[in-house]
Amino acid sequence: MRKKITIVGNGFASLFLIQYLLFPVYPFFTFFFRKIIARYDIALIGNGVFTYFPSIPEFITGKKNKKSVLTDIRPFLRRRNIKFINDVVVDVQNDGRKVITKNGSYENDALFLGIGPAFLDNDIPGTKAHTYSPCHGPDEMDKFMAKLESMTSGIIYIGFKINKQDGFVAGRAGQIYECACLLDFALKEKGVRDKFEIHFFSPNRKPGETGSITDRLQERGIILDYGYEPAEFIKGGLKDKDGSIRKADLVLYSPGITGASWLQQSCITVSPGGHVDVDKYGRVKGLLNVFAAGDCASHENPPQWVPHQAHMAQLRSQAVAKNMNDVLNNKEPVATYRYELSCILNMENDGMWMHMSSDNKPPFWNIFPRRSKFLVKVKNSFEKLYILYLRFF
Ligand SMILES: Cc1cc2nc3c(=O)[nH]c(=O)nc-3n(C[C@H](O)[C@H](O)[C@H](O)COP(=O)(O)OP(=O)(O)OC[C@H]3O[C@@H](n4cnc5c(N)ncnc54)[C@H](O)[C@@H]3O)c2cc1C
Repeated sequence: MRKKITIVGNGFASLFLIQYLLFPVYPFFTFFFRKIIARYDIALIGNGVFTYFPSIPEFITGKKNKKSVLTDIRPFLRRRNIKFINDVVVDVQNDGRKVITKNGSYENDALFLGIGPAFLDNDIPGTKAHTYSPCHGPDEMDKFMAKLESMTSGIIYIGFKINKQDGFVAGRAGQIYECACLLDFALKEKGVRDKFEIHFFSPNRKPGETGSITDRLQERGIILDYGYEPAEFIKGGLKDKDGSIRKADLVLYSPGITGASWLQQSCITVSPGGHVDVDKYGRVKGLLNVFAAGDCASHENPPQWVPHQAHMAQLRSQAVAKNMNDVLNNKEPVATYRYELSCILNMENDGMWMHMSSDNKPPFWNIFPRRSKFLVKVKNSFEKLYILYLRFF
């Protein structure tokens, strides 16, 4: 009998897990080949649609849209002989061996959770009602764009907050800086930048803080409200603790990241910050053969600077794939992962490679410049290659 693996979610973490778990073979033969040599019966529970989040900020310049960031992942799964279950997981029981969905239940020998982030929407009152976030996907970004396009002038606030309870950067900082720079670019292209005031706020930045990203904002005349956290988002603005109101016609805001609320009632161990609590092997603490990676999962002793990123999801899922293979073959897990922050800040007329790593290794052997407009093309090429891989390989 083949061992059963259940994967929950069809985002970066799950797709990277599949990539590292299965031996790569190429189209056409794949389906038949995998049926014959498959070591595991794999089922994936998700919605069948992959979102390429890193391109969502480019909705602001009109270079990307809903169609370009979404990919039907079902053919990718079929080519790999993975059973797709179109459903939503609501609980995990029996020490991880049983997954409950809205429409059924599924047993497994090993479970992987790649369910992505949840956001602390209730942290600042009014967040849901009066702000937009690129982190909520293309539909919400379309709404932000519709509102932006209806404005001929105004005040726009852009900001983020980090959930620091698990000791790393559980929030979207770089992505929000990117949105601010792209907004400046788009308004300049339309010739209306002087009619708009752009504010950048975050309680996680100290007033007067300097650095290369801050320089990019200042070069663009973006007003820095570092250290600022509104007490409430209200219609037409942001309310301060003392009751005073800052006028805002549009707010783009990313709250801190946590884990899904249903985890709290399940058998899954949850960290103080609400993430799935995993060890350095990606194993959910206290459970056998249950793993997690990506934005839903915490880290064991992380460096303070490490963020949730697609890139980190890749490194973590790579280790989990090896460890899952080992535990299913009665071996102890040994694979751990590096910590690396690596992303290109696309400003359309400029690009910056943000990078930090736990072993001081440079990105891509330093073959790319750290600051150049050319990096915008590099970022787009990464996206094209990844989508090509998902669609055809
Ligand atoms: C605007 C923006 C820009 C970004 N830019 C970059 C960048 O430039 N570089 C970079 O490295 N990272 C970037 N990121 C971060 C990156 O997108 C995330 O780190 C990455 O998506 C995390 O992958 P994941 O698989 O953990 O989560 P996701 O990609 O969010 O996938 C989660 C999956 O789980 C599914 N799911 C959730 N709950 C359930 C459930 N209960 N049952 C079944 N399925 C479920 C979802 O439908 C989804 O398929 C960006 C993020 C945003 C929002």
